[in-house]
This record gives sequence, C-alpha cells and structure tokens, in this order.
Amino acid sequence: MRFEEIAGFFDRVESTGGRLEMAAILAELFRSVPVGELGAVINLSSGRLHPEYDSREFGMADKLVLRAISSVAGVDQKKVDEMAIATGDPGAVAETLIAKKKQMTLFSEPLTLENVLRSLAEIEAASGKDSQDKKMKILSRLLHDSGPLEARYLCRIVTGRMRVGAGAMTVMDALSSAFATREDRPEIERAYNITCDMGLVAETLAGEGLDGVRKIAVRVGSPIKVMLAERLRSLPDIMERMGGRCAFEYKYDGIRVQAHISKDGGVRMYSRRLEDLSDNFSDVGESLQAQLMGREAIVEGECVAFDPTTGQIQPFQNVTHRRRKNDMSSAIEAVPVRIFLFDLLYYDGNDYTMVPYPERRAKLESVFSKADGFDRVGYSEQTIVDSPEGAQEFFDRSVASRCEGIMAKSLADESIYKAGARGFLWIKYKKDYTAALVDTFDLAVVGAFYGMGKRAGVYGALLMAAYDPDSGKWYTTCKLGTGFDDAFLATLPGMLESFKSEGKPSSVSAEMVPDVWFIPGVVLEVTAADISISPIHTAAYGAVKEGAGLGLRFPRFTGRVRDDKDPEQCTTVGEVKEFYDLQGERDGSDPDGDMDADE
Ligand code: AMP
Repeated sequence: MRFEEIAGFFDRVESTGGRLEMAAILAELFRSVPVGELGAVINLSSGRLHPEYDSREFGMADKLVLRAISSVAGVDQKKVDEMAIATGDPGAVAETLIAKKKQMTLFSEPLTLENVLRSLAEIEAASGKDSQDKKMKILSRLLHDSGPLEARYLCRIVTGRMRVGAGAMTVMDALSSAFATREDRPEIERAYNITCDMGLVAETLAGEGLDGVRKIAVRVGSPIKVMLAERLRSLPDIMERMGGRCAFEYKYDGIRVQAHISKDGGVRMYSRRLEDLSDNFSDVGESLQAQLMGREAIVEGECVAFDPTTGQIQPFQNVTHRRRKNDMSSAIEAVPVRIFLFDLLYYDGNDYTMVPYPERRAKLESVFSKADGFDRVGYSEQTIVDSPEGAQEFFDRSVASRCEGIMAKSLADESIYKAGARGFLWIKYKKDYTAALVDTFDLAVVGAFYGMGKRAGVYGALLMAAYDPDSGKWYTTCKLGTGFDDAFLATLPGMLESFKSEGKPSSVSAEMVPDVWFIPGVVLEVTAADISISPIHTAAYGAVKEGAGLGLRFPRFTGRVRDDKDPEQCTTVGEVKEFYDLQGERDGSDPDGDMDADE
C-alpha cells in the first residue's frame, strides 16, 4: 500500500472535528488496508511502531529533523529553523518546503507503507557513535521520496508529534463499523482493555472475526487498562451505596504500578498510563520475582516511599524521585520503597479479572512469600466494614498512618476487575473531602497566556480543561495562574513544547482564547474553593444553566504534575458536574447563583 494514501486519510481525520465523521473515515481506511498491515497503520496513526506500552522511541531531536528537511528541500538551515520557531511544528515546515521542491523535481520513487515501516524501524534501532548521522540519512531518504503530506506525517512521527486526534474510543467505533456491528463493540473494547494492543485487536478482528477477538486473553507482558474508583462525599454515603457492608483499604499516596512477573523471564512494571517503570522500581521488581511462589503473575499495588527503620510511610514527594530518568541507582538507594499490593489479575494460567474481589484478594495474599529483613512486598491494609462507626475508625487509622484516605471495595458477586472502567465497585474517600474543598482535579493544559511584569516572556497562566469521554473532547474549566513557583514556570515551556498547536485543536472546546494553544497532553493537579456557573468556560455547558458552563473558583496548582495520567484519564466533565451537585447539597449554595468562576 502507498504511504501517500494513508497520509491522505490521516489528513482527512485531522481536519474533522466530530467523532462520528472521524470514525467513518477511519473505517474506510481500515477496510482498504491489507489485514497484515492493519496493526501497523493503527500504531502509526498515533506515531508508534509498537503497541502503546512499548517505550521504544525514534530518538530524533527537532534539530536533527530540521537538518534533514534543509538538506532535502535545498533550503538554508537558518530559514528552516525560523519557520520551525514560527509554527512549532517540523511537520508543517517539511510539508511547505517539500511542496515547493516537488514543483521542481520529479525524480523520486513512490513510498510504500512497507518501506516507511522498515525505515522507521531502522531509525529506532540506530545506536552508537554514528547513530544521529544514520537516523538523519534514513529520514532524508524518506523525505526525498515524499510528497508534502507524507513529509508532514513522517516528521511528526519521528519527533513524537503525531496526533491525528482520534482516541482509542473512536478507533474502536471505526473497527466495529468496518468489521463487526455496534453490538459487538463491548467485546472489542474488552479485548483492548486487557491487552492495550489495538493493532492486535484490529488484525484479529479483521482476520478471524469476533470469535478470534473473544479468544484474546490476559497475558503477562501486555498491560491491562487499570480499574478506577468513583467518589462519594461521605463515609455513610459509601456504606449505603455498598449495601451496608464492604471492604475498606488504606488509600496509599504513591505511584500505582501494575507488575507483570515471570519467574523465568523478567519483571515489567507499568504505570497507570502504561509507561514502563521497570527501571525506576527495579528493587521492588526483583523482590516480587524472588518472592513469587508460582511461575507467572500480574499484580497491582501502590509503590510508596517507606522508612524501613521506623516502618513509616514517607511523603509522596519522596517517591517521585524514583521517576527521574537519570541516575536511577542513587535514587533507588536514597529512597527505599515498598509496594502495597491490592489486586491480583492473573496467576499461573488463570485470568483473575473476571473473579469477584474477595476471591482475588484472598488469592493475592497467598502467592508471595515473606522476605527476611526489609520486605519490599506488602499488602494494602484491609478490613471488612459493616457500620458507619467502623468506617470512620478505619478511615482515621488510615490518615494517622499517613495515607490519603480509604478505598471502599464491593464484596458482591459482580465485583470483578473492570479493566479500563471507572465505577462504584470501588469508591474513594480522601481526607481532603472533609475540608472545605471537595477534591483535587486533574486537568489537561490546553492553552497558555504570556505573563506580565515578573513573568514576562514565560507563561504566566494556563487554560485548563476536563475531559468528556462521550465526545472525546476537552472542555475548559479555569484559567490557572496561582500555585506556580519560578522553578516550575521555567520548566513549563519545555514540558509543553511538543504539544503546541497552531490554532485551537479540534479536540478542545473553549470560548476563552489563550496566547498559545496546546493539544491536551500535560495533566496538572488543581484545587479550588468551589465550582460555580461560568459564562466563559465550556465544561458541562448548558447542563446547569442555559448559555453557561461550570468553572473552578480560585483554582490553584498543587505542585503536582500528573505525569502518571494520560489526558484521557483526567477529571471528566461529568465529575465536575457531580462536584457541583454535591457542593450544592453540602453548603446549600444556590445552583442558579451568579457567582462567576475565575475569569
Ligand atoms: P485517584 O488517583 O485519586 O483517582 O485515586 C485512585 C488511585 O488510588 C489508584 O489509581 C491507586 O493509584 C491509588 N490507590 C492507593 N491505595 C489503593 C488501594 N488500596 N486500592 C486501589 N487503589 C489505591
């Protein structure tokens, strides 16, 4: 298949705003791709050669790509660099310059998908002393044979900027319409949620039909989408919702890890957004492997900084040192970590995701042996609660033990591990809820405003948005300008650079216009005094008051970058609305009141 055709489809998807149209275009693309290349096309549409959990990268800095563009297009390097600064997108620069060049030359071979995949694999694999040169030569060869659109996407792919705007939900809509029916959609989604490998699901569906998809199973090495918790405003509410009886666990404030352990092979540890954290927690991984009594397991737990001498949990900030990319061995030495396991998803050939929680928990506690001395493997503190007093007592104990609050977990027959879903089988309750503030919000950065005075020249405030899984779009909730220190402000431009967008991205709904737009990618934790009706923000637009949305009042950055969350995992518009409703019940505030949110 010609790469030009695929690039044409990517362009059509990118120019479309609506999820339905995007799915229709993708379905057309999927039908036209040979089955054996479908997985590759799906991975490429999000800029990868592999499934999303595979951390291999192309390792090409913008500078190197701009050099390749300059040499292929025969345009002065300075001019190319200036264009890149102006657009923030080497893909756009390549497209413009290759279009000009193409009018003059005709000596090129059409690019096939096969050729593109092979060359990209070579770029990825190039290592050693001359690797930068090698990478540049391969990209130059590709650009030489590219048309403008192909050049746009190749440069975006190798610089990590490939985002055509279609999320996993849209891709699955497209798959079910191309190869199955709407009714089959849940089975397709389950296969994806337990493998995180859309290419595999797509090729299986296209090649073997739904029967093949049903046979896709949980397996060690392929991360499972994490299950998430709902929240309620009080412990009695939780007890009522759980039917008067449930399990309570400490809610640890650390880094969630899903560990894939093989006694003979290795251990891979994934964050909730599928980053590979195996090196960051290699000590924990070794302990899990050594103490596993069977051959293979997939378990989940929270990695928490822990002082082995006092037996006390340490603040969250300590464990974040383990997320550093460099000098991992000194961080491992300086910050001892214990994993508090809370779930078992697979053990020695058996999928536990469909097994009720009480059974999973009981099994979990039987599959690891104890270590001598400092045991890096522990279990989340757990008890069965059947009264509001018991609930309060356990909650107080958790907070006194330096935890965030509690996780209530259903004991019902249907209490399976719902991969990739947020629901009331788990309900979280944090100590913050007891203060005036309801909770923290994890919001995506969609825009930035240049600062004034002391902050001139850097971003002084950010436009923040919540996610709506139904439309696949982000809706603004506040302009955030408080809680930043100078050091953070200095790192912001670099953090946001690769998400810059020339105009408002089609996945963002906003009335407020920032100086710079971003495709949602960076998630920050934000607190607020409360939520109020806002004439300018678009979250839950019209849901409470016609012609108005909901906004956060007095928003403040907590200092925590949620780099463990994908933008699709940030607070949803539905949750913002829930908070608004809860707060009305709590303090009797008037939902039709005209208190406006910050700006
Ligand atoms: P939140 O990040 O506020 O949505 O809270 C959910 C997170 O709490 C999970 O993703 C885990 O990282 C963490 N957590 C801490 N302790 C537990 C526990 N005992 N069970 C489940 N999740 C837990």
